[in-house]
Amino acid sequence: MSGYLRTSLRVAGVAAAGAGVAYAGHHYLTTTSFFLTTAHAESLPSDSRAALKKMSWKGFTELKLQSTEQVNHNVKKLTFALPDDESVTGLAPITSLLTRHTPEGAWIPVFRPYTPVSENDAPGTVTFMVKKYPNGKGSGKMHSLKPGDSLLFKPLHEFDYKPNQYSAVTCIAGGSGITPIYQLTRAILNNPEDKTKIALVYANNSEEDILLKQEFDEFAQKYPDRFTRSYVVSTTTPQNEGEYVKGYVNKELLTKVMPHKLNERNVKVLVSGPPPMTASIAGAKGGFGWTQGSLGGVLGELGYTKEEVHKF
Ligand SMILES: Cc1cc2nc3c(=O)[nH]c(=O)nc-3n(C[C@H](O)[C@H](O)[C@H](O)COP(=O)(O)OP(=O)(O)OC[C@H]3O[C@@H](n4cnc5c(N)ncnc54)[C@H](O)[C@@H]3O)c2cc1C
Repeated sequence: MSGYLRTSLRVAGVAAAGAGVAYAGHHYLTTTSFFLTTAHAESLPSDSRAALKKMSWKGFTELKLQSTEQVNHNVKKLTFALPDDESVTGLAPITSLLTRHTPEGAWIPVFRPYTPVSENDAPGTVTFMVKKYPNGKGSGKMHSLKPGDSLLFKPLHEFDYKPNQYSAVTCIAGGSGITPIYQLTRAILNNPEDKTKIALVYANNSEEDILLKQEFDEFAQKYPDRFTRSYVVSTTTPQNEGEYVKGYVNKELLTKVMPHKLNERNVKVLVSGPPPMTASIAGAKGGFGWTQGSLGGVLGELGYTKEEVHKF
């Protein structure tokens, strides 16, 4: 059984317990980049590191919002306090946290996953970047929270990754679909034992919508042999055309920017973006977003197999 299916079944169990979950699936839109300034355990003295406690995450855990930061007109960075200053999420890549709340006047709880952008060994806090959708049940709730308010969270392991499992990973992301990809990229590149190569193709409406650009640019500078990135924007100003690929993620563009040869085996392609983008690149997900669905789209045309592709 695939990791995704196991995850889906686990969530389906949660859904059943919650009597009809309103998890609408995998929606992403675009956001603006910001610089992440989260402390993490590597920067702590070794005796402080030894005191860190991995959270046990039994069922849904209530976390209190500590601070928010408006990133742009519709994206917020939200930092929640962990139970104490020594606690760390300890989440393995790629893991999101499933939020749960029941809107006022409703009886059906709403479940939505958000992927931490803070390090999994950051002591005392966990940080998300959340894009607000008009009338969005989950993102609206997140954006409405004030410091001191609480929300329920439960880990949702989205994709199993083991170091050196693949020779190369290509990530095709759109908008806020970048957060799971950022989690994996950082885990791979920060592990000197892991020789996996990563290529990122990140699509947005405009340059301003690109999230975590500074972080990805730094990865590219630090690990030029292991990490490459292409920023695809549908609109750009002429002076920036050298830095960005103008257009849409289609067959022609992917053939140009995907660095891993089709005859190279042991590759994985991760697709993480709005449902229409996922559908055109890899075929629509099945089961209202709960299953991988069949492989289609551009990757199907390029000869990739179902086993080589994972859709978030
Ligand atoms: C593994 C995973 C990780 C995720 N991580 C993050 C994250 O870190 N940050 C983040 O911001 N989001 C993330 N998401 C998306 C998040 O879970 C929600 O799907 C998103 O916030 C929208 O939910 P909502 O309840 O606000 O909107 P809904 O109530 O589901 O929808 C509200 C309205 O917006 C429209 N809408 C919803 N999505 C789209 C879309 N993509 N394009 C156009 N219209 C749309 C709907 O049609 C509806 O009219 C992740 C999703 C997955 C699957």
